[in-house]
This record gives sequence, C-alpha cells and structure tokens, in this order.
Amino acid sequence: MKSSPEKVTLIGAGLTGPLLAVLLRQRGFGVEIYERRPDMRRVRVSAGRSINLALSTRGIHALHQAGLWERMRRIIIPMKGRMMHSVAGELTFQPYGKDDTEVINSISRAELNIALMNAAEERGAVIHFSQRCSGYELKTGAIRLRDENNGEETSLETDVVIGCDGSASAIRTEMLKLNRFNFSQRYLDYGYKELTIPAGTNGEHRLEKNALHIWPRGNLMLIALPNIDGTFACILFLPFEGKDSFASLTMRATVLQFFEDRFPDAFRLMPELGDNYAASPTGAMVTVKCSPWHVEGKSLLLGDAAHAIVPFFGQGINCGFEDCSCLVELLVQHGGDWPRVFAEFEKERKINTDAIADMAIESFTEMRDRVADAQFLVRKKVELALEAMYPALFVPKYAMVTFHRIPYSVALTRGAIQDRMLVELCDGIDRVEDLDWKLADKLIRRDLTPLELQP
Ligand SMILES: Cc1cc2nc3c(=O)[nH]c(=O)nc-3n(C[C@H](O)[C@H](O)[C@H](O)COP(=O)(O)OP(=O)(O)OC[C@H]3O[C@@H](n4cnc5c(N)ncnc54)[C@H](O)[C@@H]3O)c2cc1C
Repeated sequence: MKSSPEKVTLIGAGLTGPLLAVLLRQRGFGVEIYERRPDMRRVRVSAGRSINLALSTRGIHALHQAGLWERMRRIIIPMKGRMMHSVAGELTFQPYGKDDTEVINSISRAELNIALMNAAEERGAVIHFSQRCSGYELKTGAIRLRDENNGEETSLETDVVIGCDGSASAIRTEMLKLNRFNFSQRYLDYGYKELTIPAGTNGEHRLEKNALHIWPRGNLMLIALPNIDGTFACILFLPFEGKDSFASLTMRATVLQFFEDRFPDAFRLMPELGDNYAASPTGAMVTVKCSPWHVEGKSLLLGDAAHAIVPFFGQGINCGFEDCSCLVELLVQHGGDWPRVFAEFEKERKINTDAIADMAIESFTEMRDRVADAQFLVRKKVELALEAMYPALFVPKYAMVTFHRIPYSVALTRGAIQDRMLVELCDGIDRVEDLDWKLADKLIRRDLTPLELQP
C-alpha cells in the first residue's frame, strides 16, 4: 500500500491524534490513524483512563481552531480556584485568576477522547483500532502493525508519519537507533491512583462544584476534579516506597484507616474507597525529553511522545494541543514542505516544552507542600494586586502559563524574575495591604518589559 504525499499517518488516537486529524482534514490532507486500543465508544474504557483533565487557554485555543470548543463546552465544569482541605476539615479557597474569566476547566479524559474521535471521523479521518504500531522503518517510512485481536502482522508504507502515541511512543523507540539521538526519561518517586467521590442521591455534587479540591499533606496529596454527572474524579498521589506509600498501603483496613486519619472529610464521601483503591492500578509519572523530534520530512513526534511532563501544572494536553496548532500553522506557512515544517516545529516548540517540563516539576512541590502555607497565600494575593496595577508588566507565572499563550519559555524566565521580586516584597508582611508599593514600582519597572498578551 502506498500513500500519497497528501496523506498523513498518525499513530495514536489518544488526545492529540484526533485533534491533529481534524486540523489536517480542515486543510485538505487525508488522515489515517492507527490506535492500539479497541474503540472505547464500543468497549468498556479500561482502568487508568478515567482521570479528569484541566483544560485551559492553550488547549481551548486549539479546540477553537478546530471548531470544537462549543461542543466541548457542554462537557466541562469551570473551576475558579483551589479549595484546600485541612485535616480538621477547614476550607480555604484560593482563586486561580484575577476574575471569573480566569478559570480552568475540568473535563473527563474519556469524554474528551470520544468527542475528538467523533469529530475526526465526521471530518473524514479514518481510525483503525486494535492496531499496534510495533515498529517503524526510519529509512523507508514503512510502519509495522500488529492486530491486537489476532496477532496478525502487516506492513504499511507511508510518506509522513506522526507519532502521537504518548509517553512510551513506539515511533520514538525506533528513533533511539539514530546516531546522536538525545533522550532522557525521569520518573518521580511518586505514583498515583484514581478514586471516586460519588454523586449525592439526587445527582448533586457533594463538594463545591466549581473548584479543584486539594488535600495537601506534605509528601502526600489527594485532589478531586468535578464531573458533569455529580461525581468527583480523585487522584491520590503517594510515594511508591516508604511509610504511607503505595508499597505500605496494601491492606484494605490500613488504607481505610489512613484515609480516615489524613483526609477525614473526603473519607466520609467515599463509601466505595476500599474497592476503588484495590481496583485502581498505580500509575507512574515521567518527564521525557528528547531530540531530534523528526527524521527528515518523514516522521515526527508530537505531544507526550516528544515531551511527556508530570501533571502538576495541568498542562500536558494543553501543551499537546498547542503542538497541533503550531504544526498546522507551519504547514499553512510553508506549504507541504514537510522537512522544513518539521524542523521549524521542533525549533519553535522544544525550548517551550522543556520549559513547561521544568515548571511542572516545580509545581509538584508547590502543590504538595506550599499551597496550605499562610505565606504562600499572601504571596498569591500580592501577585494579583501587582497584576491589577501593572497588567501589561506583571502577570503571575500561573496566569502566564494557564490563561495566556505567552511562550512557556518566556513564562519560565519572567516567572523566575518575578519570584525573586516576590521574595523581596513579601518579606515580613502578612497582608497585601502592607505591600511596599514604592519598592514594587521600582522593581517592576526596572526588571520587567511589557508583555505581548494574545487573546
Ligand atoms: C494523572 C494525570 C493527570 C493529568 N492531568 C492533566 C491535566 O489536568 N491537564 C493536562 O493538560 N494534562 C494532564 N495530563 C497529561 C495528559 O494526559 C497528556 O499530556 C495527554 O494525554 C497527552 O496526549 P497524547 O495524545 O500525546 O498521548 P495520549 O493521550 O497518551 O495518547 C496516546 C495514544 O497512543 C496510543 N498508542 C500508544 N502506543 C501505541 C502504539 N504502539 N501503536 C498504536 N497506538 C499506540 C495509546 O493507546 C493512546 O491512545 C495528566 C496526565 C496524568 C497521567
């Protein structure tokens, strides 16, 4: 089988694959996707895929470009801030942004995936399910496929292959054979399990609906994101080893006791906790960096395949969707000059995906250890006050990443400058009212240049 140059083969119908398919179809390219899993619209979604995601500006922008945002709006719940739960059950709400327009959006991964696959097929992309890419011939561009139902192996010639096959990408595995291919993967010592808070008897949410709930407990953390059916998708983060770890919490009674001690208000809302915990596999979290992302104009890595990041900034898919926008914009700019498009894509994106990878690791410590800290809360208020006074100069790092499309590398650099400023400005103050505005003005005008804020 020989595909025409206008035909693009995607590996993976996870989140980026079908969105990229829609964007490519809009520009007239033929698209075929090969996905190793069965079609989740017809068979039960496997464990480990029910996590909710926080969708924000970058992801939404790409969905707008694909004409899909209105469709997604129906399946999201806006979250206006973090709701922190202390052991004693006290709640502290901390807004994410400066007003109600700056929210992040909870969406079920499975629902998003299904909506994207439907949209890709409606626009003429073909998805082949239960087809695992088991190899890729870098010289000829042939991909090997294994039918997961009967083990049959086939080979498919391609002109352009894009690996949208996630953090354990098969296409990337082949690229490891290239001379001077750079690759690093770094696992956290922490894993995660998915749990659920069921809806109330009338289908109502049993916690504040428009918030991301966090139970920060030093080196442990539980979070909960709302679903449209009244449930909350929870994620428990624990170390793999040691005291209070996935290795030590294996007995049902110990797990229940642990929850009752550490997360008592959540525990009361989780009647199925014992079964949920036992049934949920423990997932690992990895940061992957590699280069090059492409082999001439024949193959490219995109999304987690090129740059898996840990989930603590809520940016993995936002970043992957931004990849899709960027790639298609370059295709429009440079016609079908694939070698050039791929090279420019990597040049534009790599510096930024490296930056968000580093910020996501930083954010892990912040969420676990610092969100409950009084000084941290003062600092967040000071950031918002500075933004209100200097909107084009001082935008909090979280907002630059989440509510704007400022390149991640710029957010990282400016964020570091602002962090130093905040240390100086918040030293010894407990209230935003005590901020030394004269000093703030001096530091901001000295160290920050105006930002170009895109809609
Ligand atoms: C616990 C957790 C929480 C997260 N929370 C957020 C969040 O709040 N916000 C956010 O933006 N991001 C979040 N993420 C990150 C986000 O899930 C990923 O960045 C995103 O799924 C990456 O999309 P992708 O298309 O690159 O890969 P995936 O969504 O992983 O899709 C890859 C697809 O390729 C298929 N595949 C794999 N190998 C093969 C093969 N050999 N042949 C054929 N098909 C193959 C897979 O079955 C899958 O369907 C989170 C991740 C985790 C683990």
